Amino acid sequence: MRLCFYNDDRLGVVREGQIFDVSSALDRIPARRYVALRADEFIAALPSLREHILREASLAQPIPIDEVSLLAPVANPRKLIAAPVNYLDHQAEAQADPATFTAAQTKRINEIGLFLKAPSALVGCAEGITVGKVDRRTDHEIELAVVIGSQCRNVTAGEALDHVAGYAIGLDITVRGPEERSMRKSLDSYAVLGPYLVTPDEVGDPGSLDLQLEVNGQIRQKANTRDLVINVPDLIALASSWYTLEPGDVIYTGTPAGVGPIEPGDIITASIEKIGAMEIHIS
Ligand code: MN
Repeated sequence: MRLCFYNDDRLGVVREGQIFDVSSALDRIPARRYVALRADEFIAALPSLREHILREASLAQPIPIDEVSLLAPVANPRKLIAAPVNYLDHQAEAQADPATFTAAQTKRINEIGLFLKAPSALVGCAEGITVGKVDRRTDHEIELAVVIGSQCRNVTAGEALDHVAGYAIGLDITVRGPEERSMRKSLDSYAVLGPYLVTPDEVGDPGSLDLQLEVNGQIRQKANTRDLVINVPDLIALASSWYTLEPGDVIYTGTPAGVGPIEPGDIITASIEKIGAMEIHIS
């Protein structure tokens, strides 16, 4: 199943370029007075909503996907976890460019662990990326994004994929420079997630997916997730050994070689095999 949020927070099922409105499923999430949330309530409720969503989708009139504005397929993640330097070819390009990357920034994930991006940076593909520091270099990074489906802590790699709600394309947009990653990668709109959430049954092995990113029609990044230094099950196990993972938490799994600058007016096209493709405008 492919699920998207679109327009004014409508929920849709995506099938062959068409959207079927299943927003009535959201009415089944219990309403309540203000309470601090531990998780994204929609992702947490998804297993219990699945049957209703499939039934509503079969009754809905199709809407062409190009006629809607796609939002992030997870509305309220509490954590955006990200993997630094998780492809060797990206480490090599960073090491070869000391003017852009400090020595510390070229260290591999095995040495430096994970980092967090601010959830407030999250956008869907229709919202676009707004360059926040025009006097600084801002780069694209395409990454397989993993959305956690159920609470877990200290899971083994063998159990890890049981806790996945689905996958999406992530763009870990980054200001280059000496500051902390958490600041350089958390500007508004610097965490793109889209075009929709694809459930694990449609993706299969997350460790053999082609990914590609183009800027203005020119290929910049082309890789396969088999080259991840720490693969998806091991990343979930690692993250869950440091923090409890909650439904809706997103793990950006790291970017391969080919990162490069983007500027206002550019258009990014990003695709991942078995997930889909999306276009993002830069302003
Ligand atoms: Mn990254």
